[in-house]
Amino acid sequence: MSLFDKFQPIAEVRAELQQLGVMPFGAVTEKLLSATEGIVNGHRVILAGTNNYLGLTFDPECIAAARRALEELGTGTTGSRMANGTFREHVELERELADFFGRSHSIVFSTGYAATMGMGSTLAGPGDVIVLDADSHASIYDGVRLGGAEIIRFRHNDPADLEKRLRRLGERIQNTLIIVEGVYSMMGDQAPLAEIAEVKRRHGGMLLVDEAHSLGMLGEHGRGVAEAAGVEDEVDFIVGTFSKSLGAIGGYCVSNHAELDTIRFAIRSYIFTASPSPSVVASTRVALRLLQQRPELRERLWENAERLYEGLKQLGLRVSPQLSPVIAVTVEDRRQAIDWWNRLMERGAYVNLVMPPASPTPASLLRCSVSAAHSSEQIDRIIEAFASLQATAGTP
Ligand code: PMP
Repeated sequence: MSLFDKFQPIAEVRAELQQLGVMPFGAVTEKLLSATEGIVNGHRVILAGTNNYLGLTFDPECIAAARRALEELGTGTTGSRMANGTFREHVELERELADFFGRSHSIVFSTGYAATMGMGSTLAGPGDVIVLDADSHASIYDGVRLGGAEIIRFRHNDPADLEKRLRRLGERIQNTLIIVEGVYSMMGDQAPLAEIAEVKRRHGGMLLVDEAHSLGMLGEHGRGVAEAAGVEDEVDFIVGTFSKSLGAIGGYCVSNHAELDTIRFAIRSYIFTASPSPSVVASTRVALRLLQQRPELRERLWENAERLYEGLKQLGLRVSPQLSPVIAVTVEDRRQAIDWWNRLMERGAYVNLVMPPASPTPASLLRCSVSAAHSSEQIDRIIEAFASLQATAGTP
């Protein structure tokens, strides 16, 4: 026995991939030609799995703001928010986020992972209860396990199952935190948040929604699924990330609970890590403004989503159940998924290969995500890449 024995399953998968001559995890982006095209592992490809929903990574205003901050404030803060790492930029972004979401309080974190993990681990501790969607993201699971609360899972997107579990809690509902995501990251399906909020209204507890993928994507103002479902008042905490529609890195939590400002001083993933670099915060602030000023980006995103979703469906592929900018093609056989991922790359489409346990089912996924920056012609080229696979390999 050695410390390394437990890594054997990972080593076996890596050996299998190496034998197939494919290295999908950690493929190297050698050069970017735009927000939607680049050279990856030597292939010129359309970027079809970036989560860059609004396509803002190359926005000239975002870049100019980042460049200015870099010159004026340097490359990094070199410290935690609690020590030397709170700059005026962080405080201003917190205010802008609170205003955008119509909430009184907000915290900026260094990553989305730190935000979700930090809130999950701090809000509920020993003696408390967490009731969460079974398909929750790893950052949610990591957080709640660390916190030490009792963890109860309900069936994915099933408000009736949530209700059953809340009913059983009795008095303990007062110490219960319910956690769901807005749009689920792998399949792109939305939480039935109106029904979930109704269950919460009837039974009690607090509700935290991770809107990592839905910010800028859904809702009249782009605030996410809670806005789209008209239930923002029932959501106690919204967490999310700057790494998708805002094109940077970092995370946030917003709330109307004044206690958030006290809780801030107990969140270890906030306290014991350096704050985001000024250039990152500066580009995020501009991106948040553009998200509000340019609703046409959201429209374009959904046009592209529909074009790809319908195109892949017409090929007879097993696409995600719900139309979304995240479109996963299910491939039962792992080897076939690897082979297809590789051939898609050769044919100019770079998608995400997702294998269990990262996929929510025992099958593998070829996960695509579209951007407002994709042209219709690029979307058609992604569809053609899938079509050419099928011509040689049959429908999965
Ligand atoms: N929550 C969800 C639902 C996510 O999908 C992700 C990232 N994939 C995160 C949190 C973490 O965000 P980040 O990668 O920006 O740290």
